[in-house]
Amino acid sequence: MTTDLGAQDLTALLDSARQDYSELAGRGLKLDLTRGKPAADQLDLADELLTLPGAATFKAADGTDTRNYGGLNGLQELREIFAPVLQVPVAQLLAAGNSSLELMHDAFVQALLSKLPGAQERWVDQGPIKFLAPVPGYDRHFSICERFGIEMIPVPLTESGPDMEVVTRLVAEDASIKGIWAIPKYSNPTGTVYSDETVRQLAEMPTAAPDFRIFWDNAYAVHHLTDERVEIADLLGLATAAGHADRVFVFGSTSKITFAGAGVGFFGASEANIKWWLSNLGKRSIGPDKINQLRHATFLGDAEGVFAHMEKHRALIGPKFDATLRILGEQLGGTGLATWTEPKGGYFITLTVPEGCATDVVARAAEIGVVLTPAGATHPLGQDPADSVIRIAPTFPTQEDLEAAVHALATCVKLVGYEQRLKQQ
Ligand code: PMP
Repeated sequence: MTTDLGAQDLTALLDSARQDYSELAGRGLKLDLTRGKPAADQLDLADELLTLPGAATFKAADGTDTRNYGGLNGLQELREIFAPVLQVPVAQLLAAGNSSLELMHDAFVQALLSKLPGAQERWVDQGPIKFLAPVPGYDRHFSICERFGIEMIPVPLTESGPDMEVVTRLVAEDASIKGIWAIPKYSNPTGTVYSDETVRQLAEMPTAAPDFRIFWDNAYAVHHLTDERVEIADLLGLATAAGHADRVFVFGSTSKITFAGAGVGFFGASEANIKWWLSNLGKRSIGPDKINQLRHATFLGDAEGVFAHMEKHRALIGPKFDATLRILGEQLGGTGLATWTEPKGGYFITLTVPEGCATDVVARAAEIGVVLTPAGATHPLGQDPADSVIRIAPTFPTQEDLEAAVHALATCVKLVGYEQRLKQQ
């Protein structure tokens, strides 16, 4: 371990990192590890969608003319495919919009402006309200709360999900806490999978707020990176059994299954929540894009079709994750300068560097042409109090670019880390 090294050895390591860094600076790199976007070859896998549903094919299974208005719930055949994937009964699962983020944003707007089932007042009339934000988490979740002035309370994410001791205590005592963000499988950015016990506790815990909601963003439900198809417990089923059916809002989408810009979003919840949602949605829309839903149903066929399609994604992005982990191990293993997650699915790896170093690492990488997600993005208001978390998104760059970028990132970690260690001596 280099943590035991004296000043002379550390200076030698720093000099070597500086040399590597200036060599990289001379290369004029232009690499981007920022967003978790599918690469073009992943999008190619769904290109058949561009020809579907096909000329003069516009009837849904029940005879609905998909070209016309109506059908607020979304097409039954597509909802049937995704009901088992998202663990929601078909009748309680809606297909809507082109992605899930807009549905999450809508959920906040509707809950602010229209009384939720179980609520005494609309959220907007309840004074300052709060949300629990497991950290590290997804920046776009946090931006929604930020936009509406909803205070976020960070809760540490453990290996089995949010720290439930903290969650259960806070929600039991504070009625202004209206909900919690949750990415239960292959979480963004750590790859965390919620344990069955965590899911059970979320379903059963007493909450001071009668209108508490779990925003269950199952964005990576089928996005496996190993042979193991990790399963999680059924939150909606468990909450319903515990008498808390209304506390669950399930979200999902085909963004990282088919086309990220032209997919389908899903919203699942209790019967009362669905009724509430549809009554509000009915003011906003006369129906979703059913042609897109029909082409998705035709293309995917059934849940097994979804799983088979995801295997093709895995074949493309698995090697990118493998390479990232290999390079991090080769370059940073044993240095004591970083730890990283080894996700079994999803789109991200979290790199944790010594406290106070993440901003500097990201800045140094930018100087040599490697753009990373800003340090802090994984925390509410963009503020990581330890300044130590960096999100790596390996999917979008080519294999060659990715490997170059991770090498460069590791060099920056050594540069900043050894500099800090020398200063602290
Ligand atoms: N939730 C999570 C956890 C995500 O990582 C992403 C995409 N990065 C989204 C939602 C966005 O999903 P959609 O494309 O369905 O809006």
